[in-house]
Amino acid sequence: MRKFVQRAIAKIDQLDSRQIVAVLESLSTELEMLENVLESIDDGVILTDAKFIIRYATANCRTLVPMIRSRSYEGMALEEAITDEHVMAFIKAQAQVRSDDEENEFSFQKGDKIQTVAISVTSYQMQRPAGAHFFVIMITDVTAHNAAERRLRRSENLASMTTMAAGVAHEIKNPLAAMDIHLQLLRKAFIRNGCLTSDDADRYLNVLEEEITRLNTIVVDFLFAVRPLDSRLRLGQIRATVREVCDFAKVELAAHKITLSEKIASFLPRINYDDHLVKQALLNLIKNAMAAMEGGGTLVVEVRHEGNELLLAVSDTGVGMDDETIAKLFEPYFTTKASGTGLGLTMVYKIMKEHGGDVTVHSKKGEGTVFTLHFPVPESEYLALSEGRQLETTYET
Ligand code: ADP
Ligand code: MG
Repeated sequence: MRKFVQRAIAKIDQLDSRQIVAVLESLSTELEMLENVLESIDDGVILTDAKFIIRYATANCRTLVPMIRSRSYEGMALEEAITDEHVMAFIKAQAQVRSDDEENEFSFQKGDKIQTVAISVTSYQMQRPAGAHFFVIMITDVTAHNAAERRLRRSENLASMTTMAAGVAHEIKNPLAAMDIHLQLLRKAFIRNGCLTSDDADRYLNVLEEEITRLNTIVVDFLFAVRPLDSRLRLGQIRATVREVCDFAKVELAAHKITLSEKIASFLPRINYDDHLVKQALLNLIKNAMAAMEGGGTLVVEVRHEGNELLLAVSDTGVGMDDETIAKLFEPYFTTKASGTGLGLTMVYKIMKEHGGDVTVHSKKGEGTVFTLHFPVPESEYLALSEGRQLETTYET
């Protein structure tokens, strides 16, 4: 169709008025068809020129973001049409630079419900006139999607809760048995002598006290591990988060004669993540790696993008693990350390599930271990990905 019109334009001075009308008619049919396509999709679409004057807005936009009432928005300044200042500020900021750190979801009260929409702004260059560009603002209702995700996460939490509960039941058996035996001994001593010597009291009561402390630790750790994670996922660059944790760990690593090497790819897509939880997970992995390298070694923290995932890998040159240990790693309370809780990796696992991701491990006894956190890259980032596509991963120095 476009070729036909271009050819017509090229020889417009040779066309008679009937032919020109035919060209215009075919153009208007095409426009109408495109409009119908736009109106049939669920997302709201707004087209503006470089000065944010609305050229086109689908009818459903008004139901997705707060806008003034108007039969048509064409020719109106976007600022005038959209009444929510946060949305407007976001669109302007995104139009200027593709900011990586800003959250693109907005929630509005709609009747007695809360509606959440995701907004994306893309800039397009036009061929003619050269240098001119326009903006496409897409508004997607993500309320149902977010709710479904939350439900899914909740059921996963319930499943892991059952394993955790089984773990606790197992853990508290020993201290309870010890307390039971010492209470019986205490009673026997009392019956035998009619009273308790301070020796007896000391011996038995000390054991009881110790076991109560142990029970308390088990229960507190359990509550910590099963407590639903209060996560707040935001779309952003994970780079700064990783750097911060590395900077934090540097001093202690150096004190343990461990060299830290950061390999962060220079191009990374944004992901939905909770800054606090990712820091916690990464710190857990670094602590474990440190414990595995008693005599020193090398710790590599690597961030790279692979397929639809962003990978955060922590490698150490420590003691490594045999297959039997690897199989039990993520079980609550599994530890080989005298003072370990065995909950570190359980937390890491939980945090990654909360992100819709996963954690994998490769290890060789005597050589070292790699833990990799897998984060899904949101679909909205695919466009940025193809723009920043590189054949090889290059790293920042
Ligand atoms: P904890 O650190 O309290 O023992 P974790 O859940 O963090 O609990 O780890 C469980 C076990 O997994 C550890 O006790 C250790 O045996 C093993 N482990 C974890 N990370 C490593 C590692 N990087 N190298 C070797 N073994 C590891
Ligand atoms: Mg640990």
